[in-house]
Order: sequence, then C-alpha cells, then structure tokens
Amino acid sequence: MGYFNDILFKSAEIIALKDELLTALMEIDHIFQIQIDFEKDDGSTEKVDIYRVQHNNARGPYKGGIRFHQDVDLDEVKSLAGLMSLKCAIVNVPFGGAKGGVAINSKNLSINEFERISRRYFSEGTKAGVFAENKDIPAPDAYTNAQVMAWMLDEHERIIGHKSPGCITGKPIDLGGSLGRIYATAQGGAFVLQQFLNDKNQDLSKVKVAVQGFGNAGSYMAKILTNMGMKIVAVSDSSGAIFCEGDQCEIPQIEQYKKSYQSLRANFCQGDVCNIERMQKDRVQMISNEELLELDVDVLILAALGSTIYQENAHKIKAKTIVELSNGPITAEADAILEANGICVIPDIIANAGGVTVSYFEWVQNRSGDIWEEDYVIQKLQKIMLNALKDLTTIQTEYQTSMRMAAYILGIKRVTRAIELRGNIGG
Ligand code: NAD
Repeated sequence: MGYFNDILFKSAEIIALKDELLTALMEIDHIFQIQIDFEKDDGSTEKVDIYRVQHNNARGPYKGGIRFHQDVDLDEVKSLAGLMSLKCAIVNVPFGGAKGGVAINSKNLSINEFERISRRYFSEGTKAGVFAENKDIPAPDAYTNAQVMAWMLDEHERIIGHKSPGCITGKPIDLGGSLGRIYATAQGGAFVLQQFLNDKNQDLSKVKVAVQGFGNAGSYMAKILTNMGMKIVAVSDSSGAIFCEGDQCEIPQIEQYKKSYQSLRANFCQGDVCNIERMQKDRVQMISNEELLELDVDVLILAALGSTIYQENAHKIKAKTIVELSNGPITAEADAILEANGICVIPDIIANAGGVTVSYFEWVQNRSGDIWEEDYVIQKLQKIMLNALKDLTTIQTEYQTSMRMAAYILGIKRVTRAIELRGNIGG
C-alpha cells in the first residue's frame, strides 16, 4: 500500500487528522486471497493467484473493479482498494472501497478459458461469503468487461439460488446494466476536464490531446473529447502509438484499426517492417509509446495501467495538463517532478470516478427495479462530477495544495467522518 499510504500520511498531516483515524484508514478490513489450480483447454493446470481486498465500508457496501493482469499482486490490490474508499467518498456515493484481481495474462486465454477463470473467481468469492448485493459489489477494470460481469453474475445467482442483479455492476444492458455505464468513466473525466479548461478560459477547439491506452476508458475519452471540440493528435495501445498528421485523428478510423487487428500497430507493421504507403495514405505515423507520452500537447490522457510516468521520464513530459483516467499511472517521485515543472495533474481519484458513479446508478436501478433513460444518467453524472470538482477546488484553495492532495483530503474527511459517526473508534 506504499503509494496510497504515502499520500494518506501527507494529507493527514495537512489537516492534522487524529492518529486513531489515520490508523483506521490504513487498516484493511478483509483480504481474500487464494491460489487456484486453473484448468486450461488442453487439460493442463496452472496455479493462479486471485485476490479481493475490502478496505473500508464505513460509508456503505464495498465497491471496486476486478482486473485480470499478470502483474496483479496483493500490494497493488490493497492500494487500489484504499483508493476506491476515498474515490467513492469524493463523488459522495454511499459505498466503501474494495478491489479484486486475478494474476493472469488474459491475452493468452481462449474464450472458454476466459469464461472459466471469470466463473471460478466469482464462485470462490461467493462461497467464501465475500460478494453479495449489500456487502461487496465488483465491476469491470483493466482486461475485464461487461461479458465477464455477465458470467460472474450468472455464477453468483447459480450458487445463491435466486436473482441478485445488484451483486455486480458494469453488466450488459440485457442483464440489468445501466445505460451510459460503458462510457461513464470517460464521460466523467471529460466533464471534469471540460470544466477545468473552461475555468482557465481555454478555447476548447485549440486544445491538443494525446491519449495513452485505447481501451475502454481511453477510446471513449477520445470520442467524447472530439465531440467537445478538442483535437486528438495521437493515441496508443500496448502495441505502439499512432500520431495523426494535421493534428486531428479520425477516431472512427482508429476504432476500425483496433477492430480489424486487435492492435493499433498491426494495421501498419509486421515486426520491424512497416507499410509506409499505407501510413501515408491514412496520414498517420507510427511512434513509440514513450514518444506519445512526451508529445508537446495541451492535455495528456493516461488510460492504460499503473506507473507509466516515473522518475526517469517525468522530466520529459511537455503536456500542460495530465488527466489520470487509469489508476495510479504516475509514481510519487514523478508526481513531485511534474508539480515542480508546473504541470497540473487531474488525479485518478476524481478523473475516473465517473465509472463508479454510474455503477452506483446501476445498483440503485437493480434494487428498485427501475430503468433510467440514458440522458437522465448522464445528467446526474455531470452534476455529481462537477459538485466533486467544486468541493475539491474549495479544499485546494483552503489548503493551497495540488489537486491530488486536495482530493485525498476531501475523501479522508468524508470517510473518517463516517467512521467517527459509527462511534467505534478510539476506545
Ligand atoms: P482496457 O483493458 O479496456 O484498456 C487498457 C488499454 O491500455 C488497452 O488498449 C491496452 O492495449 C493499453 N495499454 C496497456 N499498456 C499500454 C502501454 N504501455 N502504452 C499504451 N497503451 C497501453 O482497460 P480500461 O477498462 O480502459 O481501464 C484502463 C485503466 O482505467 C485501468 O487503470 C483501470 O483501472 C482504469 N479505470 C477503468 C474504469 C472502467 O470503467 N473501465 C473505471 C475506473 C478506472
């Protein structure tokens, strides 16, 4: 929990948080961690570590995504769970914080294996009493999606013997998912960025943006920012990055690249050999992922995985503003360098909170049996995101801190208030 605890300490110091409340925030309520024998299609088995960390539920049931990635480990899941407790508090939804992970490379799985590991994860958690509609409600995260949520829901309901759509969010619409959830993370971040730029009287049509990570969050962000009038000049995925000539990427065309070959680079290059003619025709250049991060743009969107900007590359960043759609993409050392260089970071804890906000709407709809129209969902999301930004800005002014520190302070104040109100602190 190194990174989470570091910022927690600093924020707690600024507001002179009582020691017992800081201790309560640093504690993890429950860790579910087991190693399973995962059966592959060829009959062989592989040992796979699975995790669910429940950080704190003073404000409501635990909430947080599940990620499938080979680098998932307990420390990362703990940090992300702590971040979720504060994130839910910042947007003022009645949830606590949790996170889940499976240490597996989903790119190497067949569709049957993908389904099998998804079901196994959730059945282990359900049988151990970890997941339930009023207790702990997961959602998608990196390398999981609505289909994974559908398999997990099905597994949960099979085990408990009745319908319980509110046990998981980010589901397909046909299984009780909310309209707008699929792009909510990006939409929430876009509302915050738009307001932030408006407050600085910036002309949106002149704002150049580079997007790192053309997955769920990043691809929707590229589309939404284009619709808001900004110019997307480059995008990347794990295979490489595309720079668009004329400073304006055609997002539908880039989506088509991704659909056709599952990777941006494979459209133009095989190994080291690239089809120059094709690139010229499409008016794109292949650049490296590092080069994308270092482009001279107004806004850099980080929407891949953690620790993309670190001590060694932080001083090369030229963007004026960075939006953390992904969780923890900037290390603590890099954060200090960016701040010293006058680069403003809109931190993950507010920038990507649109996802959990619409997950909350989904949970409310599942429990009430109501179905909300998409416009209503997005209007409500906008109000919540802008209120959170306003509350955060007030704190930033009061304590003269970075946006990240202000966000932590806001989250800490709300979570510790709930802990105090419950009255089970300090003896
Ligand atoms: P995703 O799996 O759909 O997309 C991730 C993308 O990042 C993929 O396109 C992948 O190719 C790309 N990528 C990986 N390494 C890269 C690299 N080094 N350079 C460039 N691109 C790289 O995942 P997602 O759901 O979009 O989530 C992305 C991030 O956003 C994660 O950190 C996740 O925790 C965070 N997030 C997502 C949601 C959500 O609702 N999807 C909500 C909150 C936070």
